[in-house]
Formats: sequence, structure tokens, C-alpha cells
Amino acid sequence: MFMYENIKELQTWLNQQGDDLAYISDYHSIAYLTGFESDPIERILSLVVFPQTDPFIFAPALEVEAVKATGWPFDVYGYQDAQNPFELIGEHIKASSDHYHRWAVEKNVLTLKQAQALQTAIPEAIFADDVSQTIEQMRLIKTPAEIEKMHQAGADADRAFQYGFDALATHKTELAVMADLEYHLKTDGVAAMSFETLVQFGAHAANPHGSTGQTQLQPGDLALFDLGTVSDGYVSDSTRTVAFQSVSDHQRDIYQVVLEAQLTAQDAVKPGMTAGELDQIARDVITKAGYGEYFVHRLGHGIGSSVHESIQIAPNNDLVLRPGMAFSIEPGIYIPGDLGIRIEDSIVLTDEGADSFTHTTKELQIID
Ligand code: MN
Ligand code: MN
Repeated sequence: MFMYENIKELQTWLNQQGDDLAYISDYHSIAYLTGFESDPIERILSLVVFPQTDPFIFAPALEVEAVKATGWPFDVYGYQDAQNPFELIGEHIKASSDHYHRWAVEKNVLTLKQAQALQTAIPEAIFADDVSQTIEQMRLIKTPAEIEKMHQAGADADRAFQYGFDALATHKTELAVMADLEYHLKTDGVAAMSFETLVQFGAHAANPHGSTGQTQLQPGDLALFDLGTVSDGYVSDSTRTVAFQSVSDHQRDIYQVVLEAQLTAQDAVKPGMTAGELDQIARDVITKAGYGEYFVHRLGHGIGSSVHESIQIAPNNDLVLRPGMAFSIEPGIYIPGDLGIRIEDSIVLTDEGADSFTHTTKELQIID
């Protein structure tokens, strides 16, 4: 779905920079700014934004109808494979604006070959500014419309957890539980997961980079679910760990440490704090309990239209957290050969603190 705020913000930036246009060709950036997501592979897909006049999308002819179907309210121009796309882009730019000398481009995306072809089409073009970081900065702060989509994705993830818990049964494999969970979600109309659903039982969960496999569930195992859904181009990412049929004191003790780390961080997070300080709050809880060496990853990462955006909630990161930033809070303890426990919510930061996208209880559940 198209959100005009994002284009307007870019237009404001172009005005400030004194640039005549932004030429954007990273399809992730185009998806963020237009609502149209498609990897053009070797073809040319670009978005041209002017500070004053309306933007346009330039796309392979076979994509033009798909662009219109997203509700994009401005022009979309197509090209056939036999045509020179850069000549056409040059013509459309000159027809759109009297000013087309100073360009902002994505310097780490635009290839030298493409830049030279554009220069041939418009010899006056100067590639003056880099727009990549500007778009990345814009993506850090979510708009109300984006936040609403993330809440919807979170609600779908909450349903997914319940489907997953309901699917647990003795001797059932991780893959079979994952298949049941996704079957129910798709039947509900949730078309896509935002990453491969992770279901891990018992000691297999001690590998936070493992994958869902053939491990069979036994009574007394912990079962870890890390999953995310896509809703209208925005994603969720959350983790719950539950006990199957019974729980030992050892499992419960470690679970409570992870839970305390997660809750303490999620309660403490406030605008003005740095990402490093937030990581430290959770890490201190786990370290004081004696498990610091088993918390082997950062506390969290940015999230939005993709599962890993540029925010790193990691030790010593000086990034100042601001309202509108969305990120995960996901401490874990992984003891090789024994168990793995992670609890994760993705949240958006408000003036008051964390607003979580998922609401499935984090208290230890014993599933029968
Ligand atoms: Mn996750
Ligand atoms: Mn995550």
C-alpha cells in the first residue's frame, strides 16, 4: 500500500540538499517509498523523485499493471526489452521537470555501467549526493500506518504460537509441528512467513543458528518457536519457549533468568537511552545469574518491512533510541547439549516506552 508521507519526506530532503531529483534503483527502497515490491533481476526498475513535481516509476512493461494495482497514484512508465531503458528514463525526466542537473543516487547500488548510461541520456547530470543513508534513516522511524501493519503482523504471530503449541505431541518432529502451524496460518489467509519458521526441541534449541529438523519431541523437553509473518509488506518476529508436559527445576530456573532479562529490558526501554545501554540491562541480568557466557548474541535488531533493519541493539552501540523506532528484544541462554531458551518480542518505542506487537504470555507455559 502506498504511503505518501515517505515520498514527501524525501522531497523535503531534496529541497534541503538543493538537488533536482533522486534516482532510486534499490528495489527495497522502492518498496518502502512506493508500496510496490518486485526484484527486477537484470531489468531496470527505478523511482524518480523531484522536490516539487510528482514522482514517477519506471518499470519493465510486464510490471506496469502490477504497479498500478498497488494504488500508486502517479505515473508509471514501462519499457520493452528491445528498448534502451536509460534513453527513455532521460526523456521522462526531461518531460517531468525543467531542472535535472543535480542528482541524488544510491552510490552503493547504482553500477558504473548504469551511471554511464544515465549520463549519456542526460549529459548535464551530476551525481551530487548519496540518498542511501537518507532512506535508511527514514526507515528507522516508523509512521503510524507502518506501526498499524506491524501490529497486524504481530497478531498473526500470536495466532501462530497457539497453533504451534496445539500441534505439540510426543515423538512428533520439529518439521511436522512447523508444517501444522503454517498450514493453519495459511488456511487463515496469512500468505507468507517473514523468515523460515524455527521450531527446536530440547538440546537442539541450544544452537541459536540451527534450523527446524527431524528432532522428535519428548515429554520434559522445552520447545522453542521463533517465527514471523508478513502483513501488507510489514513483518513480525517473535520467540516463545514452552515446556512439554513437565518442567524440571533446572529448566525453570534458567527460564526465569531469560524472562527477567527480557521483561527488565522491555520495561526499561525509553527514548534517549542508547542501544548499548539497553543491551547491557538485559545482559547484566543474565551475567549476574551466572549464565553470561551462554548469551551469545546481541539483544535485538531493527524490524519493519524486513526482518533485519539497520538498528543493532548490541553492546557499546551509541545509537540513541527514539520514538518510532521498532526493534526486537530477544535475550537467550543456550547451553550446548542441554537446552536453549529465548524469549523475543518486537516492539515500537513510544514516548512512554515499549509497545509490543505480540502479546502471547511470556510466563512459562507447560503444554499437555
Ligand atoms: Mn526471531
Ligand atoms: Mn529477531
